[in-house]
Amino acid sequence: MQEKGTISIHTENIFPIIKKFLYSDTEIFLRELVSNAVDATQKIKRLASLGQYNGELGDLKVEVAFDEDAKTITISDRGIGMTAEEIKKYINQIAFSGATEFMEKFKEAKDANEIIGRFGLGFYSAFMVADKVEIQTLSYQEGAEPAYWVCDGSTEFEIGKGILEERGTEITLHINAESEEFLKKHRLQEILDKYARFLPVPIKFGTKTESVEDGVDEEGKPKYTSVEVDNIINDTNPIWTKAPSELKDEDYLDFYKQLYPFSEEPLFWIHLNVDYPFNLTGVLYFPKLKNDFEMQRNKIKLFSRQVFITDEVKDIVPEFLMLLHGVIDSPDIPLNVSRSFLQADSNVKKINSYITKKVADKLAELFKNDRKAYEEKWSDIGLFVKYGFISDDKFYEKAKDFVLLSNTKKETFTLNEYKEKVAPEQTDKDEQLVYLYTNDAAKQDSFIQSANNKGYDVLLMNSPIDNHFISHLEQKLEKTQLKRVDSDVADKLIKKDDAPAHVLTEEQSTKVKTVFDKAIGKPTYKVELESLSPDELPVTVTMNEFMRRMKDMAAMGGGM
Ligand code: ADP
Ligand code: MG
Repeated sequence: MQEKGTISIHTENIFPIIKKFLYSDTEIFLRELVSNAVDATQKIKRLASLGQYNGELGDLKVEVAFDEDAKTITISDRGIGMTAEEIKKYINQIAFSGATEFMEKFKEAKDANEIIGRFGLGFYSAFMVADKVEIQTLSYQEGAEPAYWVCDGSTEFEIGKGILEERGTEITLHINAESEEFLKKHRLQEILDKYARFLPVPIKFGTKTESVEDGVDEEGKPKYTSVEVDNIINDTNPIWTKAPSELKDEDYLDFYKQLYPFSEEPLFWIHLNVDYPFNLTGVLYFPKLKNDFEMQRNKIKLFSRQVFITDEVKDIVPEFLMLLHGVIDSPDIPLNVSRSFLQADSNVKKINSYITKKVADKLAELFKNDRKAYEEKWSDIGLFVKYGFISDDKFYEKAKDFVLLSNTKKETFTLNEYKEKVAPEQTDKDEQLVYLYTNDAAKQDSFIQSANNKGYDVLLMNSPIDNHFISHLEQKLEKTQLKRVDSDVADKLIKKDDAPAHVLTEEQSTKVKTVFDKAIGKPTYKVELESLSPDELPVTVTMNEFMRRMKDMAAMGGGM
């Protein structure tokens, strides 16, 4: 006997709403149904381990199958199954018990994801692609009867006796006309690769042929035969779920290759692992930077209990680390059904600062334990470190000990080391330290030489971020100014005692200066006569640092 019922809901039909809002993301139906099947499987395993289920566990895999002619996709599992009562409770009510509230919230919500997110409509995402959904299920409970449920996407459902003889659930979607793309093998494979690749339960999608050893021939050589085996699409035990102590460098490098097949080896990695105050695991890799930064952004994959969610990890990962690669898995990141959208939440902020701290600690450790290796990687990691130094106060606090300055002689220094190095020669009358830098060593070569001859050091600041880095250094370092090497600083610094005296008389000097001043004709430039020793330039023309920065800014359109 079939029992019939009507879902109580004030609106005619809820499905067109769901359909409409999730439209751009229809492929996630498979993620939702496979996740449910995995959840049900994990539950039976847990019950068994707690001694609350003593039956056979059987082959606990989830299977995804499709039939192009019948236009169906079936997801089956050997999980806990459901009784008819449970179907009524979990399937019929989840979405609809709150229907009144749903409609109310729907009216005020700015964004569809806000609504759907609050109502756990995972199962119902099936109706985005199907015009009829059937459930065959048998609960693990002793004496349970198989149950059957069918719904055509209206508010009516039917529930009755089912046909399953083994514990588990089988969900059949009758794919609608607009969604026939999902009846293609490659498309399903693609979706499974994207979302299900690291799920904790084996997922079978069709079969594949494998050649296996089958005895030996007369000469004692192994014989092979082809056999059909399950095509398992996932790795149930990805490295981020393991303890760092179990893993070797190779494992991390292999996993990196698996995620980014055509990339160069990463520079180093950080294994994230925290359970309090939030749960988060993952592995972050520092890639070798390519010139095309945009291509390298958004490579971190976000998972929630091994289900792929998105590669838009903005907010979770601080902006300055968006070029990192790897995976983050956290069940504590609040997601909504469409899930690609993260909700602003205090956990998200905490995770963000945890990652910042971990990265800073790792860099500090590398620097401390193997400075040479750290310096070798500096051309790649320098950009991250400087960007973090500028944009994140917490990171700055740590990075100030391992941010490096390089000079034109290819030597590198920490901030403290550099200060000690140049303080004796490069302090001006007002006790201010003056750091000289060049952003174009070739063009400014004569100025660099001249500075070096006076015993001054010149920093190399030629990366795209260095303009900002320089302003930030000036804000953070006490009594320190940075001046480009071709600005008018020479006279403000304490000169070396043994600098040779001018060979020109005062009168001669004035004459020469006047000639140059007239020729240049701009008061912003300054003409300097150097002591005319053979290895020095007789005259330098410099520009005031402030004036030059103003000019640079104007040239860049006024912005920073
Ligand atoms: P959620 O997974 O967030 O709870 P869903 O709408 O995806 O929401 O599923 C609703 C409920 O239906 C699940 O919590 C579970 O109790 C039940 N359910 C769905 N699929 C299965 C399945 N394959 N096996 C057993 N129970 C299931
Ligand atoms: Mg679900």
